Amino acid sequence: MLERINNPVLLNEENDFDRALRPKTLGDFIGQNHIKELLDISIKAARKRGEALDHVLFYGPPGLGKTTLASIIARELGVNITVSSGPVLEKPSDLAGILTNLGRCELLFIDEIHRLSHVIEEYIYPAMEDFEMEIILDSGPSARTLKIDIEPFTLVGATTRAGLLTPPLRDRFGIVLRLDYYDTASIIRIIKRSAKILEVPIDDEGAAEMARRSRGTPRIANRLLRRVRDYAQIRGDGSITLPIALSALEMLQVDHAGLDEMDKRLLNTIIENYRGGPVGIKTLSTAIGEDAGTIEEIFEPYLVQQGFLERTAQGRKVTFKAYKHLGISPLTEQTELFQ
Ligand code: ADP
Repeated sequence: MLERINNPVLLNEENDFDRALRPKTLGDFIGQNHIKELLDISIKAARKRGEALDHVLFYGPPGLGKTTLASIIARELGVNITVSSGPVLEKPSDLAGILTNLGRCELLFIDEIHRLSHVIEEYIYPAMEDFEMEIILDSGPSARTLKIDIEPFTLVGATTRAGLLTPPLRDRFGIVLRLDYYDTASIIRIIKRSAKILEVPIDDEGAAEMARRSRGTPRIANRLLRRVRDYAQIRGDGSITLPIALSALEMLQVDHAGLDEMDKRLLNTIIENYRGGPVGIKTLSTAIGEDAGTIEEIFEPYLVQQGFLERTAQGRKVTFKAYKHLGISPLTEQTELFQ
């Protein structure tokens, strides 16, 4: 399988560590069983018919395996994959270049597909539906359109913001799959698998402690593993045990619910500055100096899923659980209200 990368950002981020740990087959991919089963059947059926797999859309928070699944699909189909992303595809000619280079039944993976420009979107519709693309030649009165045929292909789109996808684009995906946070048992398996690849000894308690603090996210689990491995090698004998994991995680300032400094700052700001909320996302973004999109995509989903934060029509509100977690009494806040 050949992987063509049409995305400079991805190339920089893709380091050796990540590549070594990335599962290569559906069998290696841990958790998300319903997604694996559905993909397995669809892939086998497409192969049997000798047709391109239906277009696939993955959505869900970052680090849950969308990019990994795209490469796995290509490998299981036995075809090449071309990797690009929404913001990189600026001009119709960028898209035309990629599409005309795709071989029969190959995969085009577009990360951050919600960031495709409207112009590109218009070009992608006929490509997805009828495997053709219309190119406008010249401009003004002499303008002509040229229809070019492309090979049947599968578009795999990934997004953290499904709500930002235009309905016509969303409707053109035959397979739409939502990735959810992983349960602790799956994260434990992921950590153990990664530790084995990296040849780091780890015991059950150490793995479980790290898993509980990984926010149900494989990318975070692997990142913590890398840091805890360093700690184990410098402060211990190289193996990860519960005491080693606990001291390393404390040093990394990741608390027992997986919340890091930024999460706590967000919750504390709502409590201290806005009496627990509701507060609008723009106000909150200015108060903590973090981009509103980043708050919505990266921090909020986990805080909401864990019941620390609520999204209401009036804005963001912290929950009783958040007060309890941070050791702040909501009563103090209430009393202040009436002073
Ligand atoms: P996304 O595209 O959703 O942001 P990625 O596919 O880049 O996430 O996954 C992040 C990292 O987490 C990958 O490098 C991979 O090693 C690991 N990973 C993701 N899902 C799994 C899984 N189900 N099993 C094992 N490792 C996984």
